[in-house]
Amino acid sequence: MAPVVMVVEDEEALGLLLKYNLEKEGYEVVIETRGNKALADVEKYAPSVILLDWMLPEISGVEICKLIRSKPDIKNIPIIMLTAKGEEEDKIKGLSAGADDYVTKPFSIPELMARVKANLRRAPEISTTKELVFEDIRMDLVEKKVFRGENYIHLGPTEFRLLKMLMETPGKVFSREVLLKTVWGDNIYVESRTVDVHIRRLRKSLNDFGPDYIRTVRATGYSIDINPVGDSE
Ligand code: CA
Repeated sequence: MAPVVMVVEDEEALGLLLKYNLEKEGYEVVIETRGNKALADVEKYAPSVILLDWMLPEISGVEICKLIRSKPDIKNIPIIMLTAKGEEEDKIKGLSAGADDYVTKPFSIPELMARVKANLRRAPEISTTKELVFEDIRMDLVEKKVFRGENYIHLGPTEFRLLKMLMETPGKVFSREVLLKTVWGDNIYVESRTVDVHIRRLRKSLNDFGPDYIRTVRATGYSIDINPVGDSE
C-alpha cells in the first residue's frame, strides 16, 4: 500500500503541482484546501506525512499543527510546514507549534521530495530493542511512549528521536551535526539552532518530573548523563 501524503494548501496551482510530483514518487495524495476539513480528514486518512501551508483561510497552519499534536491518535504524524515566511522568528514559532520540518516558499521540488522521503523513512522506525532506560526515564520503543517514574511524558516525534539517540549511549556527547544527520536525515538542510529548539522542548517535557539529565556541552553538543553539574544551560 502506498504511503498517504496529505497536502494542506489553499493555492490550487501549488496543490496540484505537489500532487503531481508526489504521485510520480509513488505516494497516494490527499489535497485539502480548508483548515477545518483538513483537521477532520487527518483522523480519517491517517496520512504518513502532512505538508501543511502556514497561511490558510479559517484556521492557520500553526493552529492546525498544534491541534494535531494535541490529539493522541494523530499526534505522531510528521508535519512539514510550507511557508512564505522566512524569518527566523517564524521558523521558531512553527517548530514550537510541533512541526518537524520547515520549508520556505519558493522551494525546489526535489528538495521537498527529499524531505518528504526523510520524514517518511523514520516514521515506522523498526527496532529490535524494545525499551531504553536511563535512571527514572523509560522509553517504550514499541508503543513509542516515554515515562518518567510513573508519569507519562508526551513528546513530539522529533523530541522522541533525539531522546532515543541520547539514551542509546548515555554519557556520550553528540555534536549538533551528528544529531542533525541522524535525527533529521542526510538530505535535509536544517540549521544547527533547530537542534537547540528541540532540545529545549525535550528538556521542558522531561524536567516536569525530575532533574535535568540532558547536558549541554559548550561548543560541542549534547549528552544525557546523571551528572548535570557545570555546563547545563
Ligand atoms: Ca496559503
